[in-house]
Amino acid sequence: MIRISLRAAAVTVTTAATAAATVLSLAGTAGASPGKAARPMPRGQAALTANPLYKTGEFDFPECSELSRRPDDLDTYRVYLDHLLDCLNKSWTEEFRQAGLRFSPPKVRYITKSVPTGCGKYPAGYAAGMYCPKNDTMWILLYKSQLSDPTEFNLFTVIAHEYGHYAQDRAGILPEVYRRYRTVSKKRAYDLTRRVELQAECFSGAFIGSVWHSLGREEFDFEEQLDWITGDAAHGKARSIRYWLKRGWYGNGPKACDTFAAPARTTA
Ligand SMILES: [Zn+2]
Repeated sequence: MIRISLRAAAVTVTTAATAAATVLSLAGTAGASPGKAARPMPRGQAALTANPLYKTGEFDFPECSELSRRPDDLDTYRVYLDHLLDCLNKSWTEEFRQAGLRFSPPKVRYITKSVPTGCGKYPAGYAAGMYCPKNDTMWILLYKSQLSDPTEFNLFTVIAHEYGHYAQDRAGILPEVYRRYRTVSKKRAYDLTRRVELQAECFSGAFIGSVWHSLGREEFDFEEQLDWITGDAAHGKARSIRYWLKRGWYGNGPKACDTFAAPARTTA
């Protein structure tokens, strides 16, 4: 999840109670990557700290120029975001192919107000985007004030972050975390949630960093994203979020993003 006007994010499940319900919906798997037989989705500790995604290379497709948008024109925003999703689909499909894991693109819904998502009602006052593992769907809120500035960059980062959660789901990371939610203490659940969120942030940074030179943006746009960051208990401290966003950005691939083996000082 990404909170409005902030750079942070949260998966839809942070408590043991709701996790139990969620995990039941994770049985389905996406279609196999073309070419070779997919390996089974990793489980247990290996899913978190020895995931095949960490062995893949840099993102391979450096071009993702942003399409133009018109102020307050929802359709142009949809086209802009669909194009971005094409880039994410291409880049992540290749990473999953390298990992030998099954993958197919996520479902995406653009919404302009709070609606039922399959993971509860969309928290419109709080989140700019969320991923619901129950229906493999990214829910993206296009709120009015955001549509007024067609040069804004935040939406790009929201989509890249939510896509990061989808990748975690397909790679067995979210399912493993949800299994653990059922048995761990509240404190440990928060720790897991932060590592999930910081990893999605790192995945987001890795993708954006990989296409950055094709965007024609100034360094300022990245600096501004860093400046907006504030932390909370579910997402980590601002310095942790900045650390993982930058680590992904300059690491340029999922391999930079093993938050689950990272020391506590970077995931506080
Ligand atoms: Zn998130």
